[in-house]
Amino acid sequence: MATYKAKSIILKSYKLGESDKIIKLYSIESGIISAVAKGAFNLKSKFSGRLELYNIIDCEISSGRNLDIITQVEIIENFKNISCDFFKFSICQIISEIILKTQSEKSPSINIFKLLYITFKEINKANAEDNLTLKKILLFFLAKFLKIMGYVPLFDCCSICGNKLSDENFESSRKGFIFSIKYGGAICNKCRKNIDRLLFIEKDCLDIFMNLFYTKIEKLLNLNISEKNINVLLNIIENYFIYHLDIKIESFDYLKKIEKIML
Ligand SMILES: [Zn+2]
Repeated sequence: MATYKAKSIILKSYKLGESDKIIKLYSIESGIISAVAKGAFNLKSKFSGRLELYNIIDCEISSGRNLDIITQVEIIENFKNISCDFFKFSICQIISEIILKTQSEKSPSINIFKLLYITFKEINKANAEDNLTLKKILLFFLAKFLKIMGYVPLFDCCSICGNKLSDENFESSRKGFIFSIKYGGAICNKCRKNIDRLLFIEKDCLDIFMNLFYTKIEKLLNLNISEKNINVLLNIIENYFIYHLDIKIESFDYLKKIEKIML
């Protein structure tokens, strides 16, 4: 059997039969990998504690006829504060779901791996119950992921006619900006007349939106962003995923339910 090595992040796992564990990984070398860790649920398993969710691991895998088999695992870094915090865990589930629904086997991206690493590291580090910071980190991930996938919205030109947007396109009386999820960006005064489902984004929210795609995580976490604006942006980006990447992220609904319970 051919074997290969993979530096990976554990995104999902579930039980197979009595004692085996199926693991879904995102690896630098091959993108998504599905593999089985035989006997992982046995008390004396060699994998004991190594195959926890969101661990960064070095592993050796044998190619199987149906499923690949994990033979060796070394932990490079573990983010153990994630699984014991319900809110952190829920945010990581959104991230895992996005990766598993959009990425495939044998199409690795070092940028996606780096983004996952930075995001999980920050989530692990954040203070428990600092949900505002955790939602900022989620926003960071979503925006940077869209950027890697080539879906940065157009902010300086109209996304229909392509004309440069000038100040007159800002609704001065309302201090905001007209945005279309379908067209992927701002819409000028002329074009907006025939378009439905337009969103109005307030100026302060728009400034954050435009920066999200280019800001480093440290800078974003230091920005003073209201919870209202964070929620507006999460909602826009969630709809952006539905429209442009054609995926519905079920874990988002779960996060919203948790928030309602906590309020
Ligand atoms: Zn236009």
